[in-house]
Amino acid sequence: MAYSAPKGANDLLPDAMYVWTRAIQEAAGVFGRFGYQMVETPIFEQTEVFTRGIGEATDVVGKEMFTVRSGEMYRRALEAGSDAPLKADQKLSLRPEGTAGWVRAAVQHNVVEPGAAPSKVFYAGPMFRAENVQKGRLRQFHQIGAECLGATDPTADAELIIMLMLYFRNMGIPMDKTTLLINSMGDEACRPAYREKVRQFILDHADQMCPECQRRAQTNPLRAFDCKNPDCAKVMENAPRITDHLCPECQDHYAKVKSYLDAMGVPYVEDPTLVRGLDYYTRTVFEVQTSFGLGSQSALGGGGRYDKLVETVGGRPTPGLGFALGFERMMLVLDQANAIPIRPSSTDFFIACVDDSVRDTAFSMLTLMRQAGVSAEMDHQGRSLKSQLKLANKLGANRVVFLGPDELAQGKVKVRNMATHAEALCDLDSARRILEQFGGRTVGAATGRLSADTLFAQ
Ligand code: AMP
Repeated sequence: MAYSAPKGANDLLPDAMYVWTRAIQEAAGVFGRFGYQMVETPIFEQTEVFTRGIGEATDVVGKEMFTVRSGEMYRRALEAGSDAPLKADQKLSLRPEGTAGWVRAAVQHNVVEPGAAPSKVFYAGPMFRAENVQKGRLRQFHQIGAECLGATDPTADAELIIMLMLYFRNMGIPMDKTTLLINSMGDEACRPAYREKVRQFILDHADQMCPECQRRAQTNPLRAFDCKNPDCAKVMENAPRITDHLCPECQDHYAKVKSYLDAMGVPYVEDPTLVRGLDYYTRTVFEVQTSFGLGSQSALGGGGRYDKLVETVGGRPTPGLGFALGFERMMLVLDQANAIPIRPSSTDFFIACVDDSVRDTAFSMLTLMRQAGVSAEMDHQGRSLKSQLKLANKLGANRVVFLGPDELAQGKVKVRNMATHAEALCDLDSARRILEQFGGRTVGAATGRLSADTLFAQ
């Protein structure tokens, strides 16, 4: 019986893995210039990190989390018919997003000392949500996210947004086909009264809205703005807008974020219905959307400010903000734009054996080359010379070194440049000496990587 990957989970084969690695390298480059350092947190956390941090009433936590148990805990919970006998640290979940886990780590390791400069980090890795699988909506997907803790100023919000847009541009996303949406969600001074207004609005229109939105009125009224039901969407068009209910401080913060984006010529669209799915946002929220290649999904990435989250998970009051972008959705857009980076050949040399008698020499040359820092490959299946050359072509080898018994008897090898087809007879011993020097096998060995071009230059 042959198995398939679980529904909504993809294998990353070498071509896709190359793009994922490039995506991380680009993040390290761009985000690094903004002062962000890479971190990694566990793929699973205590469930409470997510229920308290992200909020039980969110879809991500309420409906989409994968819980994990050690075998023993699973057995205990099964026997008891519930989770009750498990302690908090025995209830674990796969991370549905990266912010809650990073905030847990930042509190645990006291990453933001009072009075210190903000902590800026980024991460890249798989996230897990038990969603209905469709194009651009997976159960295991990859995010690159950035988090800044300790910064109150609207310059930090603008910086983060500019960083995200620059990243997308550098990755080759067609920027003329994307829209940056922004909004302010208010803070603890103005949002509770606004939530109440939206709740009342939903209750007043309950007969025209879906049961889910009626439930949301009690748990998370702002989520009704995201309801896909056309009747609900029509009703919500007339719902009170947060931007009409912001307190003066939030109004001022929002105005400054916009003025920094304006000053830097970053186009955006204000969307007072943009609430994003998670509970922890305060003030600035943003989302980068495109319909290009994404089908019914539109969000490429998004984030916002979360000034209360650190306190919620037990830390000192610390302002925070961040974003996450989805790798698979980025791939769909790049594919549509014909802009997926192509994995380059990584083979400097292919060593071809004219007959079996030279295999020992071929293997030792191969290993010396790799130790000296040049990439090399040979045939491991006893193929004919013709098939070895086919393989060299397939690998995109830059040069083929022919080892033949006649040439070897004179201490020579034939080297063919595969681009120009030029061939030269080269001295094997001097090549070996260079390789041994770069590979650290001789006293006073050279350090660094041997340039493949210089190896058979003689
Ligand atoms: P969120 O954490 O929901 O704000 O998502 C941030 C980004 O992650 C989105 O803009 C998407 O690009 C990506 N994303 C979220 N959920 C999924 C999913 N189920 N499948 C693929 N990508 C996703």
